Amino acid sequence: MDWTKVLARRAGRMKASEIRELLKLLDQPDIISFAGGIPDPDLFPSQAYSDAFAATMADNNGHAALQYSVSEGYRPLREWLVGEMEKIGVPCAVDNIMITSGSQQALDYLGKLFLTENDTAAVMRPTYLGALGAFNAYEPRYIPLDPMSNIDPETLKTEAKAAGGAVKFAYLSADFANPTGETLPRDGRERLLDQAEALDCAIIEDGAYQNLRFDGEAIPPILALDIERKGGIENTRTIYCGSFSKTLAPGLRVGWVVAAKPVIDRLVLMKQAADLHSPTLNQIVTNHVARAIFHEHVAKIKAVYASRRDRMLAALEREMPASVSFTRPEGGMFIWLTFDPKLDGADLLAKAVRDEKVAFVPGGAFFADGSGQNTLRLSYSCATDAQIDEGIARIGRILR
Ligand code: PMP
Repeated sequence: MDWTKVLARRAGRMKASEIRELLKLLDQPDIISFAGGIPDPDLFPSQAYSDAFAATMADNNGHAALQYSVSEGYRPLREWLVGEMEKIGVPCAVDNIMITSGSQQALDYLGKLFLTENDTAAVMRPTYLGALGAFNAYEPRYIPLDPMSNIDPETLKTEAKAAGGAVKFAYLSADFANPTGETLPRDGRERLLDQAEALDCAIIEDGAYQNLRFDGEAIPPILALDIERKGGIENTRTIYCGSFSKTLAPGLRVGWVVAAKPVIDRLVLMKQAADLHSPTLNQIVTNHVARAIFHEHVAKIKAVYASRRDRMLAALEREMPASVSFTRPEGGMFIWLTFDPKLDGADLLAKAVRDEKVAFVPGGAFFADGSGQNTLRLSYSCATDAQIDEGIARIGRILR
């Protein structure tokens, strides 16, 4: 069977994630890897999950947890999230929240909801690779997003139209972005809202790492600033995607979307058509665990990640040649290195794995336009102090 004859055109834009392919190769015990971007499993609140699963199954023989449920998501969990969103400056109602299977599903649904082929999506250079993967299926064209720059909205609109569509949304992580670890300051968030208003497009705010601030002052989410401007969530243009993956555990696949009702109503229809609802059992268990331990647990994991970040920054200061610059994240899991444009991150990785048994992710994959070859991403989330000291010394040797 020649499958290419029957595949949809959109399948042509689906390709294996370079990172996933790489991670397979790196699964060797003697390699120090800063390539993964996953939470440290030693930090999972396993006992709280065991207790919550047991309690959920004991409740009327688990009838509610094992049954179909509503597409909007488990109401008590959405009610808890209303309280959490309120705390970060996002007053909203239960009906402004839909539960998704991880925030990754929200990105897919939002691509499906907004993008017709040749529509324009503005993304950061670099941006989260999984967002490009989700959006690519809907065949957009990408333009670079730079909240600090001055844009000419009319030119951008004309170009989008000439390409056969319109500017539909800007996508970004405002806090501790994957891959750079960087945070958009408040004035950048305000400017982004101005830009989106001038372009009359939506903003997709990816809050996957938002709870993992180690130091510095918290900045209100873009959605909070949008609500402040508009006097309530119903007049906003920002769609916030949250996740329990980086704080509690990614394996249950529980995330959420917060937005004005017209957006949520359409996402609910989309969810009905796609998978009816996210797993009931996982939502009920997440609700138990979140209510029991969320804040105490997040404080605990932040202390661990912060100390690993400090250790990695200190090692970078010590080991990197002067030509290498790196970000100093206030939270999250990543540090981003930029080096001599004559060097290529992918070549460096091959050399690093072969000669020094150390791994990272070459940065090029995170750029929608194929640039950024002279960058790489490091994650400190799962590394011990000894691995950080030794691994960064090895990367220093490669870069020198
Ligand atoms: N957004 C960003 C920026 C991420 O790094 C990730 C996970 N790598 C996700 C979204 C998706 O996470 P999840 O689906 O587990 O919520």
